[in-house]
Amino acid sequence: DTIGASLDRAVATWPDREALVDVPSGRRWTYAEFGAAVDELASALHASGVAKGDRVGIWAVNCPEWVLVQYATARIGAIMVNINPAYRTHEVAYVLKQAGVSLLFASLGHKTSDYRAMVGEVRGACPELREVVYFGDPGWEALLGRATPEAAYADLSCDDPINIQYTSGTTGFPKGATLSHHNILNNGFFVGELIAYSEQDRICIPVPFYHCFGMVMGNLAATSHGACMVIPAPSFDAKATLDAVQQERCTSLYGVPTMFIAELNLPDFASYDLSSLRTGIMAGSPCPVEVMKRVVAEMHMAEVSICYGMTETSPVSLQTRRDDDLEHRTGTVGRVLPHIEVKIVDPATGVTRPRGTAGELCTRGYSVMLGYWNEPEKTAEAVDAGRWMHTGDLAVMREDGYVEIVGRIKDMIIRGGENIYPREIEEFLYGHPKIQDVQVVGVPHERYGEEVLACVIARDPDDPPTLEDLRAFCEGQLAHYKVPARVRILDSFPMTVSGKVRKVELRERFADGQR
Ligand code: ATP
Ligand code: MG
Repeated sequence: DTIGASLDRAVATWPDREALVDVPSGRRWTYAEFGAAVDELASALHASGVAKGDRVGIWAVNCPEWVLVQYATARIGAIMVNINPAYRTHEVAYVLKQAGVSLLFASLGHKTSDYRAMVGEVRGACPELREVVYFGDPGWEALLGRATPEAAYADLSCDDPINIQYTSGTTGFPKGATLSHHNILNNGFFVGELIAYSEQDRICIPVPFYHCFGMVMGNLAATSHGACMVIPAPSFDAKATLDAVQQERCTSLYGVPTMFIAELNLPDFASYDLSSLRTGIMAGSPCPVEVMKRVVAEMHMAEVSICYGMTETSPVSLQTRRDDDLEHRTGTVGRVLPHIEVKIVDPATGVTRPRGTAGELCTRGYSVMLGYWNEPEKTAEAVDAGRWMHTGDLAVMREDGYVEIVGRIKDMIIRGGENIYPREIEEFLYGHPKIQDVQVVGVPHERYGEEVLACVIARDPDDPPTLEDLRAFCEGQLAHYKVPARVRILDSFPMTVSGKVRKVELRERFADGQR
């Protein structure tokens, strides 16, 4: 199916159910109203000369217009290009040119970001960019004014590209994954199916729409099951998120682990009534066991799903099931989704490894992207001739089919010939009473090649743990080569907008060997 056909079905089936709620502005749409608003925008785009295959950029923080643009572009077969709201002029100019964007939707401004001023700076360098429309500006109303009651759009196929999504840029420069209706609509549907979404569900989405977590696992999972999308704030705000859950009686809450940590650490956390929650999704990076225990017990999210995925695979390929126990929810990222295959291979030879041994995770199925936009060499490096996506992640498949993520190949530390997986050390250090959050990276060492550095956010900034504290804590518990050789105390970690720690940046910052 196309995304437009899926939305038509939702409108016909649940016309009076709520589809979208924007908490900051108080605006709300039923499915009938949402469908009509999407049709109006699609027709306005068509009347503005936007045709199938044209690239329409969107550079904005979360707002209802974002969602309307997502469905309206899909309806006419234009390719939506998601641009990270944290980007600045250099990066946005790169994306606009690389993808050949002709129409750009943008926020006016948010916090310190003046998008209109930044667009002004880059516009001259992007000859293909014909028009820019800002949300909350008269230009938006003017665009909608071009809509006509009857519009005839080009024929669409579910295999047409409709979206270019950029990866988070955790390990380097983001890559633009080109995705079809078939890729992302199916993924949203199956992710929602495993959570048992229905028209009774209300999903609080504090993760950015520009990223697959928000627009696929959030919006597409919601509309393909008649659930309601709830926007708590334009960008992540722990308090606004819990306020929205409470006020809108949300049944599901999304986030990367750092977001849940921030919510659990709110001073008035205990005063929130979160009893409407039953489920949610935690994804994007590994979740510490202690955090998961509190999410299940104190946020009522007994059925919370762990998802593993990547932008290039629409995104989800592994997911825990509703009745999985805590051990599977913390120790693994679940089992493979329907109609997707996974295998674990020796990264050097490509030969499949037996269950229980670590290797590179590869996935295959409807979810694998069409390719990186205009980058056939990079596509060929990631997707092999058999259509297997090589994820760059190390994983182990257990006997029962559940998969443990060991870490990224790029983050693995090799110290004196020993392979060290930072995640294992992080999990262990997380139990230290003086540690609020910790990231372990490898830094160059003359003799060993690399050594282990622990970057720590202290629970009490006035009483941070010392290297001796950490070494004493690890003594007898971890093999000597895994014990941190250096420690750095930080106030915060460098993050991507999708909420991941940029370990590359930590490695670069502390590569000087200073103790
Ligand atoms: P880039 O590819 O630009 O360096 P990125 O890989 O972080 O950035 P995304 O596509 O947003 O970009 O994220 C996919 C990656 O996130 C996966 O390859 C994996 O390393 C990590 N990841 C996703 N889900 C999980 C999870 N549940 N547990 C651990 N890691 C996860
Ligand atoms: Mg990646």
